[in-house]
Amino acid sequence: MAKYANVIVDISLDKLDKTFQYLIPEELKDTIREGMQVEVPFGNRSLAGFVMELTDEAEFDESKLKPVTSLKEDGVAIESQLIALAAWIRRNYGGTMNQALKTVLPIKQKTKAVEQRSVRLLISKKEAQEYLALFEAKHNTAKARLLRELIEQDVIQYQVITQKLHVTASVVKGLEEKGILAVESQTAYRNPIGHLNPEGYDKVLNAGQQHVVDVITSDMQKEEYGTYLLKGVTGSGKTEVYMELISHVLREGKQAIVLIPEIALTYQTVMRFYNRFGKRVSIMNSRLSGGERYDQFLRAKNGDVDIMIGPRSALFTPFTNLGLIIIDEEHEASYKSETVPRYHARETAIARAAMNHASVVLGSATPSVESYYQAKQGNFKLLELSERVQKRPLPECEVIDLREELRSGNRSILSTRLQELMDNRLRNGQQTMLFLNRRGVAGFVSCRACGHVIRCPHCDVSLSQHAGGRMVCHYCGYEQPEPKVCPECGSRYIGGFKAGTQKVEEIVKKRFPKARVLRMDYDTTRTKGSYEKILSAFSNQEADILIGTQMIVKGHDFPNVTLVGVLAADMSLHVSDFHAAERTFELLTQAAGRAGRGEAAGQVVIQTYDPKHYAIEAAKDQDYETFYEKEIAYRSMLRYPPVANMLLILCTSEKEEAASQAASHLTECIQKTGNREYQVMGPADASIRKINDIYRKVIYIKAADYETLVELKDKLEHYMKEENCFRNVMIQFDFNPMNG
Ligand code: ADP
Ligand code: ZN
Ligand code: ZN
Repeated sequence: MAKYANVIVDISLDKLDKTFQYLIPEELKDTIREGMQVEVPFGNRSLAGFVMELTDEAEFDESKLKPVTSLKEDGVAIESQLIALAAWIRRNYGGTMNQALKTVLPIKQKTKAVEQRSVRLLISKKEAQEYLALFEAKHNTAKARLLRELIEQDVIQYQVITQKLHVTASVVKGLEEKGILAVESQTAYRNPIGHLNPEGYDKVLNAGQQHVVDVITSDMQKEEYGTYLLKGVTGSGKTEVYMELISHVLREGKQAIVLIPEIALTYQTVMRFYNRFGKRVSIMNSRLSGGERYDQFLRAKNGDVDIMIGPRSALFTPFTNLGLIIIDEEHEASYKSETVPRYHARETAIARAAMNHASVVLGSATPSVESYYQAKQGNFKLLELSERVQKRPLPECEVIDLREELRSGNRSILSTRLQELMDNRLRNGQQTMLFLNRRGVAGFVSCRACGHVIRCPHCDVSLSQHAGGRMVCHYCGYEQPEPKVCPECGSRYIGGFKAGTQKVEEIVKKRFPKARVLRMDYDTTRTKGSYEKILSAFSNQEADILIGTQMIVKGHDFPNVTLVGVLAADMSLHVSDFHAAERTFELLTQAAGRAGRGEAAGQVVIQTYDPKHYAIEAAKDQDYETFYEKEIAYRSMLRYPPVANMLLILCTSEKEEAASQAASHLTECIQKTGNREYQVMGPADASIRKINDIYRKVIYIKAADYETLVELKDKLEHYMKEENCFRNVMIQFDFNPMNG
């Protein structure tokens, strides 16, 4: 039982930084929890506050501390639910409480919603006539003017009263105090999708979809709220399942949150929800202004909406009676925050659901290895949709060995086979998508003759090219010079692999001069609306070929696309990140999922230098199970998550020396704990050694249990507070990092 409570007094958002310590009286010791609302003495007043932390460490002399007065009775306010979640985030991912709170609570905006005030007559018209006569007799002309108007109209806008009737606020107030009228205010919040028109809804679930819905809703009826992993091939109708579940939850008087990666949060997707649920839906995305986002927070809190759709941050929608959290495309790396606290939306959703008696549904065609592992361990319930709606066949996949192409004299990025099929599509008026998975080009080095890639002997990830002809492992710091010839086959055709979408566009235009070509990548989507514009142009068949990066493979539905070409499947395979194979499998499967969504069957061509790699073979066969078995064996062998847990400590500083010193110091510190459960790697340069003149060093620690790493983080945070040697260095924690 903790002795003290650190309390943030008054939930005015600017003051969140400071906590005050109070004694926990004996009678509250069993019931008090982090995140609860309490009454505390403050100066000579009594104020409400939130418990941020329970602790045994006194910040002051105990005799100077006052006790907590009481726990607030009126249920758990929504802010306090979110504060409890913030406390959970802080503990599990590191950072300060203030950072965690800022993640969870919206920043209060100055640009408030428009407040509309109006004045209403409270007494009967007959009584009002009597008052009117009285005011006229007394020559109270302003009062008389207002009352005459109110007898006519019942309700008048406040603005009209002051500006048109020229009646002052004090006159209104005087009549209000007499009980003659009431001033009412209504807030009109901005609604980002208020201009859309719902079209209604008419689909009936098929047997597979209905089964999934039945399992989850019957658990809900038994008040068993769990986490479900819905593994459904692309086009199997997962979104329809989500909507049916939401409608069930709404009938129970509860609310739902739907997380969708920002990039898949298109007009098309939003409309599907809007057509079914109309005004009960709201959305959040980064295109909304701060004020608009704050309005959505208030609309949710006031019960004006029951369904919130948005990316990661929509998870913190302040619904008071949350029943369901859906995470679509749950494998997406964007569900992990890239700033402190580096929380994962999936884990955080599960934590929030547990606090709210809500269920969590994770959906994906290619579940993350993490989630599938949890399902195999029995922590998540696995549900499957293994057929496309209307039994449309999955596309046919073939793998082209680019080494063979080179041997037979074709140096183009387009293999002979792919050119042949593209030609065929152009003649038949069907569309082609070309996909270049250009993730983290932090140059790996490979041999174009035999496909060999230079890897770290200790970590089994690719080494990265660095200045001065060095090759470096970003996990353990291992270094070697860049080879001049391939150590495997002796070819001089070895080097960094580079090719961009722009280059591909040139090549395609040259080869198919009559084709209409669109390109979608970071460069062509920088201006507002350009992303949607390209998608709708392609969807309206204003182009024959769409070339793009991962942006084009996420969830878009183009019925006329019958050919998908993956230009160099290896590219995402050899980044120095233990997720490389998983990302590759996922991208290839998603890309293949774009082909043949309409009447005509689809075809997929995967070009690669490494046709025997398990991620590529499994993607070719659309065989998740086989991929998973191989991948989990690799992760177990090298103790990567989810089999073990990993903590990344990032030390950054303007002075490289300072960052290095801090990293070495922390490493010693960790080793000194003598805890044999850890395995420490590094310090090493981060995959990007310097950003904006800030140097970056990393330490990786592996341990079997997550909790072991949380305790280590707490120890280090404590140590860092005491020592002053980290002054010019920033230290961040990243649990189970997504980008190595
Ligand atoms: P997923 O989310 O698994 O990719 P969707 O929910 O987008 O699948 O469904 C794919 C397509 O099939 C969509 O156009 C959707 O409207 C349609 N669809 C899904 N379920 C049904 C159903 N039960 N009856 C008719 N059409 C359906
Ligand atoms: Zn070679
Ligand atoms: Zn290494």
